[in-house]
Amino acid sequence: MKVSNFPIFTQKDVPSEAEITSHQLMIKSGMIRKLSSGQYSWLPIGLRVIQKIEKIIREELNNIGCAEILMPSVQPAELWKESGRWDEYGPELLRFKDRHEREFCLGPTFEEVITDLIRKDVSSYKQLPMNLFQISSKFRDEIRPRFGVMRAREFIMKDAYSFHETQSCLDNTYEIYKSAYKKIFQRLMLDYTIVDADSGNIGGNESNEFHVIAETGEDDLLLDNELNGMNLEIAKIKYLEDDLESIIKKTGLTHKKGIEVGHIFKLGQKYSEKMKAKITTKDSKSINMFMGCYGIGITRIVAAAIEQSHDSNGIIWPKSISPFEAVIVEIDGHKNKDVRLYSNKIYDLLQNSKKNIIYDDREASFGNKMKDWELIGIPHMVIIGNNEAKNKTITYRSRTENTKSEIKAEDIVDKIS
Ligand code: ATP
Ligand code: MG
Repeated sequence: MKVSNFPIFTQKDVPSEAEITSHQLMIKSGMIRKLSSGQYSWLPIGLRVIQKIEKIIREELNNIGCAEILMPSVQPAELWKESGRWDEYGPELLRFKDRHEREFCLGPTFEEVITDLIRKDVSSYKQLPMNLFQISSKFRDEIRPRFGVMRAREFIMKDAYSFHETQSCLDNTYEIYKSAYKKIFQRLMLDYTIVDADSGNIGGNESNEFHVIAETGEDDLLLDNELNGMNLEIAKIKYLEDDLESIIKKTGLTHKKGIEVGHIFKLGQKYSEKMKAKITTKDSKSINMFMGCYGIGITRIVAAAIEQSHDSNGIIWPKSISPFEAVIVEIDGHKNKDVRLYSNKIYDLLQNSKKNIIYDDREASFGNKMKDWELIGIPHMVIIGNNEAKNKTITYRSRTENTKSEIKAEDIVDKIS
C-alpha cells in the first residue's frame, strides 16, 4: 500500500470526551471517527487492525471445527417473546416497527435467532454436535456509552454457538473453546486472565470471562497470586459480602481492574426449552438440545490492546495485530527522483517477500511523517533519503528503540521478520 492510495487521518487534537488513552490515540492516529454517541466509523488504519484480529479468531475457530455463518442484524420480536427476553432485556434492546407495524429489534446478541435457525434444520442426534460462529455488528443501547469503542452502542463481536445431545458433550466442548480462546488471546499478545463469572442477561449456568488487566477497565476482579479468580458479582455471592473492601479483607484476594474481552457460557437447555428446539436421541427419545455460547468483543480488543501497549509518542502495536509490519518513510521523494525510484524498489522487494508494507509517499516533511508513524505505532520503520539511495542501504528504526542503524538493502527482509 502507498499512502497516496491508503489515506491516513492523523490529527493533533482530541475531543475532551476522550478520557482514556486508547480513545485519544485511536482518534489521533486516525483509526476511528465518531458518528453519534457510541457509534464510530472505522478508517483504513483502524479497519486493518480489526481484520488482523478477525483472521486470528477465524483460524483458531476453524481449528476446533467451528464453521462461519452470518445472520441478519434486524430480528423479529416474536423470537424474543418466545424466549421471554422481549420483557426481560430492558431498554438496552433497541426496538422499532416496520411499515406493517411488525415489531423488531436490532440484534444485541443472537441466541434467539440461532436457536430458531437450528430448530428448523436439526432434528436428529446424528447432526450433532454442531458449532457455528459469526462475526458481525451488534447494537446495544448502552446507558452510558464511553471510552470510544470500549463501550460502544454499535460494535463488532464474534459470537459462536454449540449444540449437543448431552450435557457431557457440552462440557467437553466448553473446555475446547476455553483452550481455543487461550490460543487466540496469546496470539493477540494480550496480557489476560480468565475468571469465574455470572451469566447476566444471557442466562444459563457455568460461565467464564476473559479480561485484559488494565487500570482503565470497568470491571472489578478478585484474583489470587496466579491471577486466577472471579469477578465481583461472583465474589459477593461466594463470600456473602456486599462490597469490595469486605471481600478483600475476608479473603486476602487482590483487586484488579479488567476489560472484559471474551465471555463463554454453558446455556444448557434454557433457550431450547423455551423455543422448543428438540432432537431425537439415539434411543429415540425427544429432548431439548444442550447449548453453549461464546463471545469475543473484537472492537473492544482493539482499544484494550492500545491500553496495554503505548508510550508518550503513540501506539505500540503487538506484531500480530499491527496494521502493517513495516513502513517505508521516504525523505523528500517528491523532489528527488533517485529517492522516489529507490524507495519504489525497496517497496517492491518487500511486497515480493509477502510483507505487509505501507509506503509513505506523501509530500510532507520527514519530521511530520515520523511523528505520524510513531503515533500509528508500526513496529518497523524503513527510512530512505538521498544517502540511502546513493549507498544502496536503508536506515532502520524500531518503534520501541530510539536508535537508528544503516543496513544493506538486502538485509531488510530479515530485519523486519
Ligand atoms: P459488559 O459487562 O462489558 O457490558 P457483557 O457481559 O454485556 O459485557 P457479552 O454479552 O458477554 O458482554 O458480550 C460478549 C463480548 O462483547 C464482551 O465480552 C465484550 O468484549 C463485548 N461487548 C459487550 N458489550 C460491548 C459494548 N457495549 N461495546 C464493545 N464491546 C462490547
Ligand atoms: Mg453489557
